[in-house]
Amino acid sequence: MTLQLRVYVPDHPLIKHWLAVARDRDTPSVLFKSAMTELGRWLAYEASRYWLPTEEATVQSPLAESPATFINPQVPMAIVPILRAGLALIEGAQSLIPLASTYHLGLVRNEETLEASCYLNKLPEQFAPQTRILILEPMLATGGSIMTAMQELVARNAQPEFIRIISIVTAPPALQQLSENYPQLNVYAATIDEGLNSKGYIVPGLGDAGDRAFGT
Ligand code: URA
Repeated sequence: MTLQLRVYVPDHPLIKHWLAVARDRDTPSVLFKSAMTELGRWLAYEASRYWLPTEEATVQSPLAESPATFINPQVPMAIVPILRAGLALIEGAQSLIPLASTYHLGLVRNEETLEASCYLNKLPEQFAPQTRILILEPMLATGGSIMTAMQELVARNAQPEFIRIISIVTAPPALQQLSENYPQLNVYAATIDEGLNSKGYIVPGLGDAGDRAFGT
């Protein structure tokens, strides 16, 4: 069986609404940040469906014994926001997975070469086997940042089949690179846009996600 990258764009009115708010250039920073939080929440909800580890148990209701399913706290869960813009998605994702550890990864894009370099790496030395990892990267554009992030994660034993990427706006160049190198991955996004302009920005996109979220 040949594995292929899966990109899910949930057909949900709340996701469409908050994407529209985020795209609008007249949306002020404070509302843009709310839109990111909501998109982080609903995309994390979709991504966690067949990904969160569960365990079967029995509970006693006031009336009778009942089979029950709990989140399995023994399996480690991690959230990896890619700074800066990934921080805007963290509140929504953490509200769904409060047990997850958060490991920050700071990557900056060289505006001329469009290559990403790392200025902060709080990843653990090794991830335990089967650790569920949620990467928060709002813009999958050239693929530079996400490919660097994936290399750092895989070098620490992360298993791509247990990784989910939450992104808001994705573009074909980044998806192509992920597909060629990590076909086991699953991406959850609000949209797949047409492409990039000459400066590596997604068109129509939403502009610079970090600047808009942090009002800079
Ligand atoms: N990063 C952004 O913030 N926006 C883009 O369009 C591309 C990369």
